[in-house]
Amino acid sequence: MNKVQRRAILKRRAEEQGWRCCYCKRPFTMGGKTRATIEHVQARMDGGRDDVANLKAACLHCNQHRGTQMNQARQRARALLAMAARPV
Ligand SMILES: [Zn+2]
Repeated sequence: MNKVQRRAILKRRAEEQGWRCCYCKRPFTMGGKTRATIEHVQARMDGGRDDVANLKAACLHCNQHRGTQMNQARQRARALLAMAARPV
């Protein structure tokens, strides 16, 4: 997906969402933390694709926050698996 396609999808999703973030519902701004960004509903690191169906418009803050949360959840799951695999 190139830059022009990304912008077109972002604009389309933002319009469908009434120019509000899909998570916090705050209106998008032109710049800063509440500017619109493309959000992968299923993260790319989890096999999510650049399909239009997998993309939404989220503000930068929510997009970054969600990525951090998902990484922390992944690390917790990995730690639990490591503990379970240890001999008693
Ligand atoms: Zn948001």
